[in-house]
Amino acid sequence: MISGVRLVVLGKQGAGKGTQCVRLSHHYVVPHVSTGDMLRSEVKSRSPLGQRAHSLMEQGELIPDEMVMEMVGARLSERDTTGRGFVLDGCPRTTVQAESLDAIVQPFGLDIVINLQVPTNLVMKRLASRRVCVDCGANYSTAAPPLVNWTCDVCGGEVVQRDDDTEEVIERRLNLYEEETAPLLDWYKARDLLAEINGTGSPDAVTRRVVGAIDTLRRKMKGDGA
Ligand code: AMP
Repeated sequence: MISGVRLVVLGKQGAGKGTQCVRLSHHYVVPHVSTGDMLRSEVKSRSPLGQRAHSLMEQGELIPDEMVMEMVGARLSERDTTGRGFVLDGCPRTTVQAESLDAIVQPFGLDIVINLQVPTNLVMKRLASRRVCVDCGANYSTAAPPLVNWTCDVCGGEVVQRDDDTEEVIERRLNLYEEETAPLLDWYKARDLLAEINGTGSPDAVTRRVVGAIDTLRRKMKGDGA
């Protein structure tokens, strides 16, 4: 059986993180831990966290670091993730979160941090046409809709445009990405964990590139006697 992985995927909104993380979680047989999906589920269930997060998410603002990291810390201490690992999607988004994650994942640390590189004009196009299932979060687009009348092919849920995929909110989210999240690329580079991957092209092609980068790293580590 393939070994698990302890993977973080970074990239702008619309870079294809959600799609790739689902594929990678199947490939490495580890849970896909998406902070956006977890927060949307808290909002849906109207939990205290969900109620605090709701309006911030609608405006494209970030949820306070300590709230997010408490949620992530709890999820990453469950048995499935401590055992085989995880594909972490949407976190860290700030340096404070990266530091907190560093402490959470000790003693094993992360294997690799992938940055999916996609030009801004392409992510704007992708976000404007993105549609998601309200129940399971499966991703579609106006160019590749579900088979039947905006009903999810996976679970039968309703497929809609996300509240935060409007032009104004997208702009705010992309600005926050540049201010808060982009500096993490240097942070992980300095720790020799970063792999930059071209995120353009078909989903299959991007998955092949990411798996190739992880396999290369593993071979290198084996060669180093790790
Ligand atoms: P996403 O689905 O990853 O684009 O996340 C949707 C929204 O959830 C973001 O615009 C933020 O409001 C919130 N969110 C998700 N992950 C985080 C995080 N790590 N830190 C702060 N806010 C987050």
